[in-house]
Amino acid sequence: MSKKIVISGATGRMGQTLVRMIADNAEFELLGGIDRERASGDEAQRFGFKRIETADTAAELIRACDVVVDFSAVAGLQQLLAQDLSGKALVIGTTGLTNQVHQRLEQASSQNAVLVAANFSIGVNLLLGLVDAAARVLSPEAYDVEIVEAHHKRKIDAPSGTALALGEVIAKARSAALDAVRKDGRGGQTGARPAGEIGFHALRGGDIVGEHRVHFIGARERIEIAHSAQDRGLFAEGALRAAAWIAGRPAGTYTMKDVLGLESR
Ligand code: NAD
Repeated sequence: MSKKIVISGATGRMGQTLVRMIADNAEFELLGGIDRERASGDEAQRFGFKRIETADTAAELIRACDVVVDFSAVAGLQQLLAQDLSGKALVIGTTGLTNQVHQRLEQASSQNAVLVAANFSIGVNLLLGLVDAAARVLSPEAYDVEIVEAHHKRKIDAPSGTALALGEVIAKARSAALDAVRKDGRGGQTGARPAGEIGFHALRGGDIVGEHRVHFIGARERIEIAHSAQDRGLFAEGALRAAAWIAGRPAGTYTMKDVLGLESR
């Protein structure tokens, strides 16, 4: 039986990419969208929906669905999480999440099957594993880590959620808290670079879909592990794979590793 899906961030770039993919996928029935403005008839149809609601008016849509997929913005996700979502599976792709939103998602996981991923691509999830393996071998005393990411000029958060996820993996492998070693960009009289610091650098421009390069810089060698996304369909494909997998699962927190069957450490 097809899974009934609602897309939050319906008219955005990712929302529209999802709509196009669902149209070719018999596994899903698209019930409607959620965005800043309501729309019905031709106006909603223009975006591939029968109807688009705001979070506040979406109760009926939400009640009828199996899974809500959110690629909106932090404020949009907060409004969604303020609604009655009991029993619905949630797939969250929005990035730049605050601690408050993380806590709210944690609460939701007692009633909902919840999957949050800063990046839904298979390659990036593999990259996280490769970076973890590298960080376990390359000590913070001998290898400086710098993470460079590049995205399109409309992206509103930096560093990217994926860059932070890479930083988290490295910090954890080094038994450090990311907040204690994180350095976002450099300028002015910075002083010498302390050992163990993890530097983040964000390039913004044009229509770059998403690039991440992790540098492990030693005195005599440098290792670089990189990923480049060519098309945002990649993320939509992963999010739909997650949506199909999570719909109907018991309440709890899940990750892309569970969806992809990658071994967890
Ligand atoms: P976008 O700006 O094109 O689309 C965002 C949509 O959300 C818009 O339609 C906007 O109207 C809607 N929105 C914003 N604030 C809202 C609010 N308060 N209430 C209701 N709707 C609201 O952005 P995008 O490129 O589609 O990206 C959306 C999010 O997904 C971003 O956080 C981005 O970083 C993230 N993203 C994640 C992945 C991943 O793999 N996890 C991949 C790509 C993008």
